[in-house]
Amino acid sequence: MVSGRVWVVVAAAASLGLVVALLVWAVVVSSGESGAPSTAQVSVTVPAAPLAPLATANRFDGARAFALLREQVLDYGWRPAGSASLRRLAVRLRALMPRGRFEAIPGHPGLRNVVGSVPGRLPAIVVGAHYDVEDAPKGFVGANDGAAGTAAVVTLARAFAHAKRPGARALRFVLFDGEEEPAGCTPFTACGIRGSSAYAASHAGEVKALVLLDYIAEKHGLSFPREAGSDPALWRRLRAAATAVEVGALFPDMTFGEIIDDHTPFTERGVPAIDLIDFDYPQRDSLQDTLDVVSQRSLDAVGETVYELVTRLRRRA
Ligand SMILES: [Zn+2]
Repeated sequence: MVSGRVWVVVAAAASLGLVVALLVWAVVVSSGESGAPSTAQVSVTVPAAPLAPLATANRFDGARAFALLREQVLDYGWRPAGSASLRRLAVRLRALMPRGRFEAIPGHPGLRNVVGSVPGRLPAIVVGAHYDVEDAPKGFVGANDGAAGTAAVVTLARAFAHAKRPGARALRFVLFDGEEEPAGCTPFTACGIRGSSAYAASHAGEVKALVLLDYIAEKHGLSFPREAGSDPALWRRLRAAATAVEVGALFPDMTFGEIIDDHTPFTERGVPAIDLIDFDYPQRDSLQDTLDVVSQRSLDAVGETVYELVTRLRRRA
């Protein structure tokens, strides 16, 4: 899980009123002629939360991104850090990345970050996501928590590999290993965020800003209030980018509780970072985080937004 002050987050999410109850159970109590109460259960279906708005820009290949999301879930299945399936996936992801390579994670043999890059001026803009999934529950496939962010980062990397801009900032696309903690290990800050901690420790000085993608493809009710640990100025630029591609409704002008995630090792080193995480995701950390609760449309709306944001950030002084 993405951890930390989860109780704060849950309380905040509830106060946002974003939770959609698909079934409302009402207990109807009536009195019979005998005077003994009888009960009946009535199920009421309420409308699902809306779909994401359609982005007007088309520079992010949503179809390819969604195919890569599906591939992770269907062909690699449960793929926690250190597993054979995740190591196979890493080879595949490295091949898809421009200048793709592995970086070892000191202290965690068998774990490795997958890094793609587009040359340019330093410090670099980094776009990241974790590619491992929950160790528990067994069989967790992480369509939204893992596959979606990974698919978006790879698709952005491939788009920018062909969008050369003389004088622009360097771009790095980093897939972090070992974000999720081994089953039963606590605290999360020591057991999880292993790949991002290693990357920040060795590269923070080369990073101008980090844009982290997590839980970005929920089909119904996708919404990103600002995670409280995310840099406010960078978040304003994100919202402006979203407005430019006409999906500003995804980013309401609100803030919710702080999440410990792969951006945390960067913010702790003073690197401006933002975490796009739709934490109010009913299937979070469960075996229901599957393909039927994510969509290409949502993934594309976020992908187009981040493409626009990175385009703006890389040409800025
Ligand atoms: Zn995640």
